[in-house]
Amino acid sequence: MAASVVARQCLETVGHFYYLPSVPAVMATAMLTRRLPTALAVILSLAVNIALVSRESLTDTVANALLFVAVSWFVAEMCWRLRAAQDRARDLSDRLAHRNRVLDAILASTPVATIDRDGRVRFLTTRACAVLGASAEAAVGRDLADFIQDFRPDQLTDGADAVWTGRRPDGVTYPVSIQVGLIPENADGVHATLCLTDLTQAHAANARARELHAQLNRVWRLNSLGEMAASLAHELNQPLTAATTYLHASQDALEKVGLMGQSAGRTIDLAKAQLLRAGAIIRRMRELLAHESRSLQMERVSAMVADLRGILLMIQNDAGVRIEADIDDLNDHVRAERIQFQQAIVNLIRNAAEALQGREDGRIRVIGRARSDTVFEVRVEDSGEGVVPEQLETIFRPLTTTKSSGMGLGLSVTRTIVESHGGTLAVERSELGGAAFVFGLMREREMEDA
Ligand code: ADP
Repeated sequence: MAASVVARQCLETVGHFYYLPSVPAVMATAMLTRRLPTALAVILSLAVNIALVSRESLTDTVANALLFVAVSWFVAEMCWRLRAAQDRARDLSDRLAHRNRVLDAILASTPVATIDRDGRVRFLTTRACAVLGASAEAAVGRDLADFIQDFRPDQLTDGADAVWTGRRPDGVTYPVSIQVGLIPENADGVHATLCLTDLTQAHAANARARELHAQLNRVWRLNSLGEMAASLAHELNQPLTAATTYLHASQDALEKVGLMGQSAGRTIDLAKAQLLRAGAIIRRMRELLAHESRSLQMERVSAMVADLRGILLMIQNDAGVRIEADIDDLNDHVRAERIQFQQAIVNLIRNAAEALQGREDGRIRVIGRARSDTVFEVRVEDSGEGVVPEQLETIFRPLTTTKSSGMGLGLSVTRTIVESHGGTLAVERSELGGAAFVFGLMREREMEDA
């Protein structure tokens, strides 16, 4: 304001400029501050001009003052609008810069390519280069059909997600999923964005899950047959022995009767032989399906559980539960038969998932911890109702079930597996509120110390 007064006084030597030197001062105030300081600047300019300039009449003074107020307020208003527009532009450019950074991050982590209408590659992210097995320099400008067998750009539909066969420059073929986003009427000439996903690993994981599933089913059939045979042998042993004893007693009695009795005694001999044969068949069957001859190897609990990922994912999705694994993988070398251990874990998890049926937020946890120098403890627990106290004694017996479609073999098979690994299967209450099935495996410390 002072500068404008000085400027005004200097300009007086050249001519009368009246309010003109005050206008830049009002503009500067408006650009830097808000309405109140600008109004003060206008009032100050009025006062200085009225004080320093002698006018011919009061009308002239008032008219000039009013004109100045109108012009300077209009200019100030323009300045404020300019400032607001500048702020908006700055904000917009900040947001655009942020969006660009986000887009760059997304592109860096996504395998995306763009193609033109003829199917030629226009752009390729680093991840997409890794999928196609070619550098951006080598791929841009080339036909995508050189990398994807039978690729036809005219057959693409917006939103489509199909599996194609990719062929890398070294001749290796692989399954690749391509998600299509068509760009309508683009001046750049880009026709579509393609999100490429190499499915090699996903297919291998699926194949592994299917193979393991089939293997576990086979092992389950054998294990449950063995359990039934053991149970049958146990149940039939007593009546067969009793029948043989009764026949023996009848034979003794008949021998005293005479010749007729002796002939009947020979027939009873035949009956006894058949009973003994039945006993031998059952014993043989039990031996055949027995689990005693396990071949325990050095295994890692974390790896055996991780291998079940595909199957656990299936159970998790079917039952709508959450399955977590928390295995101490620094101390988890044990002696185990891999497929049998996995069978035991899957049995316990299936039971837990069934116990959680109809519940929201159902949780199942597999915990593995080294409990001593020799024992690694495995725990499968859930957030269900738990096992009712009256059933605690009986649930491990074969053919004991509380389910309408249950066979009652899962826990007895699991217990047999655990025992053949030198452990004991026990049931407790879980921290999650439901049942916790716990067993120990023999540790292989040398492997960890090595
Ligand atoms: P099945 O599953 O065919 O019934 P099992 O031997 O696997 O046979 O289980 C026997 C019984 O033990 C089940 O019927 C059920 O009552 C009980 N049980 C097993 N696991 C659990 C669990 N996690 N929570 C509550 N009860 C369970």
